[in-house]
Amino acid sequence: MLKLIDITKTYEVGDIKVEALKGINLEFRKHEFVSILGPSGCGKTTMLNIIGGLDRYTSGDLIVNGISTKEFKDRDWDTYRNHSIGFVFQSYNLIAHQTVLENVELALTLSGVSKKERKQRAIDALTQVGLKDKLHAKPNQLSGGQMQRVAIARALVNDPEIILADEPTGALDTESSVQVMEILKNISKNKLIIMVTHNPELANKYSTRIVKLLDGKLVSDSKPYKSRAKKEQNKSKPKAIKRMSFFTAMFLSLKNLLTKKARTLLVAFAGSIGIIGIALVLAISNGFSTYVNKMQQETLSSYPVQLTNASYDMASLMKIFLNDKSESDKHDNDKVYTKDELTDMLSKFNTSSSKSDLKSFKQYIETDGKEELDKYTSAVQYVYNAPINAYYNSSSNGLISANATTVFADIISSYPLTHPLDTQDKQTRYYLLNYMFGSGSSYYSNEFWSEMLDNQSLLQSQYELVGEGSRWATEYNEIMIVIDENNEISDYTLYGLGLLNQSDLENLLDNYINNRDSEPVGATFEYNDLLNMEYKIIPESDFYEKQADGTYFDIRSLRNSANTDEIARYKTKIQDLYDNNSVTIKVAGLIKAREDASNDSIKTVIAYNSKLTKYMIDLNNNRQIIQDILQAETTDLTALGMLGYADLSSPDGIYLYPVDFESKNKISDFITNYNNIQIANGNEDKVITYSDTIGVMMSSISTIISAITYVLIAFVGVSLVVSSIMIGIITYISVIERTKEIGILRSIGASKKDIKRVFTAESFIIGLSSGVFGIVISLLLILPINIVLKHFTGLINIATLPVLGAIILIAISILLTLIAGLFPAQIAAKKDPVIALREN
Ligand code: ADP
Ligand code: MG
Repeated sequence: MLKLIDITKTYEVGDIKVEALKGINLEFRKHEFVSILGPSGCGKTTMLNIIGGLDRYTSGDLIVNGISTKEFKDRDWDTYRNHSIGFVFQSYNLIAHQTVLENVELALTLSGVSKKERKQRAIDALTQVGLKDKLHAKPNQLSGGQMQRVAIARALVNDPEIILADEPTGALDTESSVQVMEILKNISKNKLIIMVTHNPELANKYSTRIVKLLDGKLVSDSKPYKSRAKKEQNKSKPKAIKRMSFFTAMFLSLKNLLTKKARTLLVAFAGSIGIIGIALVLAISNGFSTYVNKMQQETLSSYPVQLTNASYDMASLMKIFLNDKSESDKHDNDKVYTKDELTDMLSKFNTSSSKSDLKSFKQYIETDGKEELDKYTSAVQYVYNAPINAYYNSSSNGLISANATTVFADIISSYPLTHPLDTQDKQTRYYLLNYMFGSGSSYYSNEFWSEMLDNQSLLQSQYELVGEGSRWATEYNEIMIVIDENNEISDYTLYGLGLLNQSDLENLLDNYINNRDSEPVGATFEYNDLLNMEYKIIPESDFYEKQADGTYFDIRSLRNSANTDEIARYKTKIQDLYDNNSVTIKVAGLIKAREDASNDSIKTVIAYNSKLTKYMIDLNNNRQIIQDILQAETTDLTALGMLGYADLSSPDGIYLYPVDFESKNKISDFITNYNNIQIANGNEDKVITYSDTIGVMMSSISTIISAITYVLIAFVGVSLVVSSIMIGIITYISVIERTKEIGILRSIGASKKDIKRVFTAESFIIGLSSGVFGIVISLLLILPINIVLKHFTGLINIATLPVLGAIILIAISILLTLIAGLFPAQIAAKKDPVIALREN
């Protein structure tokens, strides 16, 4: 059944050739116990390894069951070893990190036997060698004899036809040796046992045949055998065994990794650092860009596309301030030169400003363009340079201009008349206040009056009515009061609205000048108090009187006069206008932003209808003083503007409120399209220019965030690469450490591919755990990070790791470790099993 024909084996070590076997001819019976004797170095192990398919012969032939092995491929040898051969080594060669049972099962694992059968057969084999009670012990808990019996059980479990034992008792005491020999003898009843030994007594006592080798040659054979040259019964090669499944490889690696828990944990942690870095960067930047996008959508959808009749190219104006000089502007160190700052600025201002013909555009969007624009806009607002001059008749203070600045400014300017500023400190305080809130400061006169959007349903989606009797203003003479989410209106506004006493404001001022603290106002109002409020609006031109010299005099300029007569004249005039020439308006309702509203379009406390704007413009335009100017031979345009004249068909600004974020771009397209039509018709002067400043700013924030993200990821990526390299090195160390195991696996039939799989599986597990580890740690770190970020930005849960990102990161971790482990796995697979086994 097994026949060696002229087998030679030559080892080449460098230039030296070692002839380990010099032509061996030997045939074995199906069942016998053969002992091979010979001095050390005579070639016994070499012969055994060749018989077992662990090593290849140089020439000759090995006949297995009548088949020549000359044409055997690696795969066939693996199958042969796994099916037909059981190895027993002097040094037992058990896998240290596996239990006795698992060591024995391993050979069956390789041949793809089911788990249940595997276990049963392993237990049977261990019972046969008398180790039934040591199933779950680790090899290092056993004696030498016991370990050798485990090795025999492992050799037996696959039920091979041949058991090869290389000095099985070489390391054992006499008693254990006898036990092992008894077992082998017993097995030899129905198997072929070929045993190399140094011990002639044991050989004589237990074996049925003794073969002696000397210097690579056969020198004696106590019971030679020659089979009859009958026709070979078995022509086919051994059937290929099933390969180890990836799952089995994983299991083996997992077992191995689990025996080195601390190290595996450290490796996985080290590997996860890069992942953690990227995950955190990703989470934070994802959070911020989501936030910016949301903010952008909300802001931009409430923020109108603003067209003004005069616009400036902000970008080119900015350049002047950035002071970027071209090379030709550089001067020599010889004289002092003029820096043409003002000149440059004014010329840039000139070239970068453009006039837009909003009159034509308004006409277009009210006729041909209306249908299309209606789809994208929730409201269109026309802005005119026509102030709303509201007055309130308060019972305690008389007539006051219902806007915060003038109220405060008036009090400030009249303050020194009644309170001497007799110390340096008082003067300083007074000048500071005057600078901030005095009549010359840059506050607008009507900063808490604004026009509501012309879209009732949009307004109602943003605001709810507050208080019984509140209703929405629908007519020109109706206004709304907006209170904040905490039902408050600022004191500043309340003074202006006439709701708080002027004398309190005076006290406040006086306290400040004298460096005294003021009590909070602490006033409350019933909804009804506000609902009954009434204001009167005076047309702008009514304040003016034409002088003899043809100029116009504004009566309001007497307001802060130091002359009491002039102040009296001012008051009488205003009272007269209030009583006889004004338009009465009433508060129709109180509103408050809805909690769920994403934005609020009204930015002021008082909101009026666009009808009021038109009404007041009409009224003003028809005043005699304006009609006179219009009818004059040469129209005085400056006076017209000053007196509040406005052409309703020619707004100073058009605000287009987009329906949603997407519509904003549609509106841009709409304007571009309009411009193209104008250009096609040769009306270049009607082209509208506008710059979406906020949009540009927002998108540059997003760009900056993603740029920072990429830079950070690149940095962290380096640590990812470093950790992969480290994992590669550790896998390589593992290969070195497990060289013996590789040899053992090969000896019981594992193919190169199987070995590669085991190590690939190991990298896979490390990569997977690094990835999962990294994500879990990141998720935990995100919690405190969010607390810190909330502290600095006020944003809640800003850092969020996107699910897809997490999955991709785990995949990257696996991929990188697999790549890192590829090289060591290749090295492991290529290891010569014979050399691997010699390793100690
Ligand atoms: P034995 O088992 O009889 O002691 P071996 O079969 O191990 O002897 O070795 C036979 C000869 O082959 C020895 O001279 C040994 O040095 C040599 N030899 C064995 N394996 C190798 C190898 N891998 N490379 C080089 N020489 C080897
Ligand atoms: Mg030997």
